[in-house]
This record gives sequence, C-alpha cells and structure tokens, in this order.
Amino acid sequence: MALIVHKYGGTSMGSTDRIRNVAKRVAKWVRAGHQMVVVPSAMSGETNRLLGLAKELSPTSVTPAVMREMDAIAATGEQVSVGLLAIALQAEGMEAVSYAGWQVPVATDSSFTKARIESIDDVRVRADLAAGKVVVITGFQGIDPEGHVTTLGRGGSDTSAVAIAAAMKAAECLIYTDVDGVYTTDPRVVPEARRLSTITFEEMLEMASLGSKILQIRSVEFAGKYRVPLRVLSSFTPWDIDITEEAASGTLITFEQEDENMEQAVVSGIAFNRDEAKVTLLGVPDKPGIAFQILGPVAEANIDIDVIIQNVSHDGKTDFSFTVHRNDYARTMELLQNTVGPATNASKVMGDPKICKVSIVGIGMRSHVGVASKMFRALSEEGINIQMISTSEIKTSVVIDEKYMELAVRALHKAFDLDQEQAATA
Ligand code: ADP
Ligand code: ASP
Ligand code: MG
Repeated sequence: MALIVHKYGGTSMGSTDRIRNVAKRVAKWVRAGHQMVVVPSAMSGETNRLLGLAKELSPTSVTPAVMREMDAIAATGEQVSVGLLAIALQAEGMEAVSYAGWQVPVATDSSFTKARIESIDDVRVRADLAAGKVVVITGFQGIDPEGHVTTLGRGGSDTSAVAIAAAMKAAECLIYTDVDGVYTTDPRVVPEARRLSTITFEEMLEMASLGSKILQIRSVEFAGKYRVPLRVLSSFTPWDIDITEEAASGTLITFEQEDENMEQAVVSGIAFNRDEAKVTLLGVPDKPGIAFQILGPVAEANIDIDVIIQNVSHDGKTDFSFTVHRNDYARTMELLQNTVGPATNASKVMGDPKICKVSIVGIGMRSHVGVASKMFRALSEEGINIQMISTSEIKTSVVIDEKYMELAVRALHKAFDLDQEQAATA
C-alpha cells in the first residue's frame, strides 16, 4: 500500500460534475489499495473573482494590511473546493475529511500573497489515513507564525501538493490538470506542440522559472530538493481508465543523469513570459560601482531584477537596461526618475512595459555549440529584433517586443524541429 498525493487544478474542479469525476477517480485509487491525500485548487475563475472583488474596493493601494486581507479572501476559494470534494468522496462511499491549511497546519512565513512553506505537521493527516480516511487538504494556503492566513502565489496549489508529498514521503505526487502532460511549449500557443513523456528536473525548473505556467516554480524546487517523484497528467481521461495505464500516462519529471549514449534533443522546450517590463538609464558614467549604484536602491525597494544589459561606453558614458516584473514597473520607473536617475546623472530614463521574454531550454545545449545562433537566425528570418539576451548552461532567453511573442515561439518551435517526433539531436 503506497501513500499517493493527487493535485487537481481549477479546471479539473470547475463544476460539481467535474468534482464528482475527481471523487470517482480518487475512489478508484483507494480501492486499488492506496492511501490518498488530495489537494485541490479553487474552482476555475474563482481566485480571479475573489481578488477582483478586493481590487474593486482597493484599486491602487496594496499595503501589507490590504495584502493580509487579500490572502484571507483568496484562501476561501480552496476552502470551498475541499469541502465539496470531501462530500463527493463520501457520496462514493469513502470516508473523507477536509482541512484548510491552518488546520493541518501548513506553516508559512508572513509574506502575504507569496508566502513560503516552512513546515508541515502531518500528525493529524497520518492519523486519518491510518483510520482509512481520504484526506483532502486545501492547496495554495497556509498559516504564518502569528496565525494569519497566507497564500503561496498564483498557481500555488502545485507547491502545496508537492510540499505535502515531500513532508509525508509519499510514493508519488500526481498533478492532474487540463492538458495531458508537459509539452514542448504551451499547446494553446503552438497547436503542433508535442507532449514529452519525460523531462529532466533541471529542464522543468528552467521552463517554470522562465514563465511556463504548467507548474509553479516552487513546486519544482520542492520536488528537486526532496526528490519527490512528480508526474503531470490529465484529469480529463475517463475516470475509470485502467489505473496502471493512468499511472504511466502524462509526463514524468526525471532525476536520473541523462544516459550518455542516449540521443538527447538539443532543445526540449520553449517558454515565454509576458509579465516583464524593461527600464533603461541613458548616459550614465561608465565607472566602477555604477551597476551597484543603480541596482542597489532597486533591490532595497524589494523589486526583483531579471535580465540586465550594459552597453559599451562612448566618451565615458554608457546605457544600462534591466527588466522587472510588470507589476513593479510603475514603482521602478518612479524610483529611477526621482532618485536613481538624478543620483547617477543619467541623461534620460526610459521604460517599455510591452516586452516579453522567450526562452529555449534543453540540457542538450550543454554539449552543443551554435544553438543560440540558430535561435537568433530563426528570429531574424521573421524580422524580430532582439533587445536583450541572457544565457545559462541550459537556456537562452531573448527579450523582444511583446507583439512578436507568438510569432517568435512558433518560429523557434519549428526551427528546433520540436513539432517532429524526433527533435534535432545533439
Ligand atoms: P491548473 O489549473 O490545473 O493548475 P494551469 O492553467 O495552471 O492548470 O496549467 C495548465 C496550463 O498550462 C495548460 O492549460 C497550458 O495552456 C499551460 N501551459 C503552459 N506551458 C505549457 C507546457 N509547456 N506544457 C503544457 N501546458 C502548458
Ligand atoms: N487558486 C489559486 C490560483 O488560481 C492556486 C492554484 O490554482 O494553484 O492561483
Ligand atoms: Mg496551475
């Protein structure tokens, strides 16, 4: 008998019919002899609806006090889901009990709207499992040291499920969603995208951090740190499909070192991110310490910086650009215009919120040259101008005008043969 964690996303929980289907599927796993912990998200659209209500009453102000209430409000979406799913499981003849994060408890820090899980006490859950119950635990939420309800950031139910699986040393964590696995890129953007039967943990981490929303990045970090066997699969297969077939479907995140002899695709996937904005300081003095003088105050304001570029200097002056999350764009511009720009004698501060970042990811890039240039050629053939470039061992990212995003993703998908059964190999 194995302990298994199932996570069901918003679409999978989107109606009472779908919740009934989830319950039937979980009941099938129980009947096959497994102990089951189930982590559902709020019903689809619900978190947006709840946060929208909060925004109506406080359109601009996101003070810590407002953020505390936003978490209290958003957390109710998952609370409804767990109750409904527990009832549906009981209707299937199961003994089932639901818990909100604070009841487990799932302990987090106090960073409202993006809290981090610190520990999970599994005593109560284990006792229920031992008594033969299915335990249904809210995704996306926890409780901070002062007893405030917190949420883990959008898409955070993935992280709840993996963290619970890690804490309880579950045999596997299955992430059920509205696609049947991890694809070479978002199939909503490129219909020719193909499902990957496996993806390495490192690649998944890059894909998630570069904007692919199929898994929240922290869930992948947890899976890596605690070696949680993780699989992404569809909740839309018939609930009564053969359990062995279901357990082998979707995409498995693998941890093994790649087989040296195995032909490895150079590029495994393409990620994109519309959530960034670019800011530029023109004509700052090119002298030691200038990067710190610019980025120090930005970091102090708790603004995360992503891609950075500094031009070659002319007459002792240089231009300096970097990207930030689009939510931080207005704050960053204000800081540069009022403080950093004058302090560094910048001749001008410029900003562009309409950019996006497109990235190619693959561990095959380690052992292969010319991958980035192939990327740049494919983009130039489409007349797409590259504004910034950033690379690591297994990814190359470019910042481009937002209006070319889909074109760029499709062109790169084709250039690296990702629509073919056998992608270009290293
Ligand atoms: P859930 O509500 O189940 O958590 P999400 O909407 O968070 O579902 O994630 C699933 C969605 O992720 C898919 O519908 C798909 O459009 C999108 N997606 C983005 N990148 C990928 C990818 N590489 N492979 C599969 N799906 C992807
Ligand atoms: N309901 C939350 C959200 O919409 C968490 C999740 O779905 O993973 O972001
Ligand atoms: Mg999700």
